[in-house]
Amino acid sequence: MLRKLRIVVKVGSNVLTRNDGKPNVTNMSSLVDQIACLRNSGHEVILVSSGAVACGRGALTTTRTLDAVAQRQLFSSIGQIRLINLYNSLFAEYGYVVGQVLTQKENFSSRTSYLNQRSCMQTMLENGVIPIVNENDTASLTELMFTDNDELSGLIAAMMDADLLVILSNVDGIYDGNPNDPSSRLIEKVMPGEDVSASVVASKSGFGRGGMGTKCGIARKLSEEGVKVIIARGNRPGVLVDLIETPETTPHTEFVPRTESLSNIKRWIAHSGSFAKGVIKVDENAATALRSDRAVSLLPVGVVGIDGEWEEGDIVTLTTASGCVIGVGRASLGSSDVAAMIGRRGERPVIHYDYLFIE
Ligand code: GLU
Repeated sequence: MLRKLRIVVKVGSNVLTRNDGKPNVTNMSSLVDQIACLRNSGHEVILVSSGAVACGRGALTTTRTLDAVAQRQLFSSIGQIRLINLYNSLFAEYGYVVGQVLTQKENFSSRTSYLNQRSCMQTMLENGVIPIVNENDTASLTELMFTDNDELSGLIAAMMDADLLVILSNVDGIYDGNPNDPSSRLIEKVMPGEDVSASVVASKSGFGRGGMGTKCGIARKLSEEGVKVIIARGNRPGVLVDLIETPETTPHTEFVPRTESLSNIKRWIAHSGSFAKGVIKVDENAATALRSDRAVSLLPVGVVGIDGEWEEGDIVTLTTASGCVIGVGRASLGSSDVAAMIGRRGERPVIHYDYLFIE
């Protein structure tokens, strides 16, 4: 009997739309068939689906040339309804109810909005609803967008304490060379801490924003946090079900997770680096202690300098004196208090271990 899993499935525009910008109904139906099958086996599934912009593009000819932001907003507003309508009717065939979650990067910036979003999706799952998540492209600010839906899927998988994130791509996984070169070999397993970025050929195709480089970065990060990540080919027939039931005969790359998984708050902090309000620079002794396997908090004695202004509870970046990033944390003291305590012994922690993520 297989364990019941909470699975986040990320599928990109290239799998969901045709070259003419129409939804790829064949691929979408096959995806829905497989998710329904996983649900019938008792697994929970959250779908992170791109394709709004690509679908909208195929539905409308604009009267004048629009800039990139206006295009994204307009096309996503049209395409998102089409996508969700199609999902809704395809899942209804199996008797499953879907719910739409449109989100933005800001929703991950404060712990309150993060927990609010989490509890919404938790309630959906508890009630048997399949959440279908996408970025709210009509409202997102260009400078504060997810890099792509790969990043979004990583945030969702970490937030929802998923057992597995499956990123469906247009190749079988990560190769040790160019995937089009017949001598390249599929890398089947990436161990925690292993760096395969040198093997990733910077290739980006079609409509989506993501590439294998970001997929790989997200996968490494999640596996460090204790979430298993699989990259596989989205249009391989039956791929999702096969990955769960017969993984040994299904081509894919697996990022093996660390056995000790991070607490949810540490996971949130791990993904919050882009919201940092300031920087705390630490000396070599502190950097070594923080990087060790021990549960170490950052004390004022290890701080050599700060940049920026923040309040208690804000996210800050930790660097060495020379500026090399070592982690992210939630400050227990505001920047003025920290400034007054730099280098002092016997003070309370600047960042407590429970609110610290070391990269
Ligand atoms: N949110 C975008 C869309 O639905 C896709 C972003 C991406 O390509 O990763 O079109």
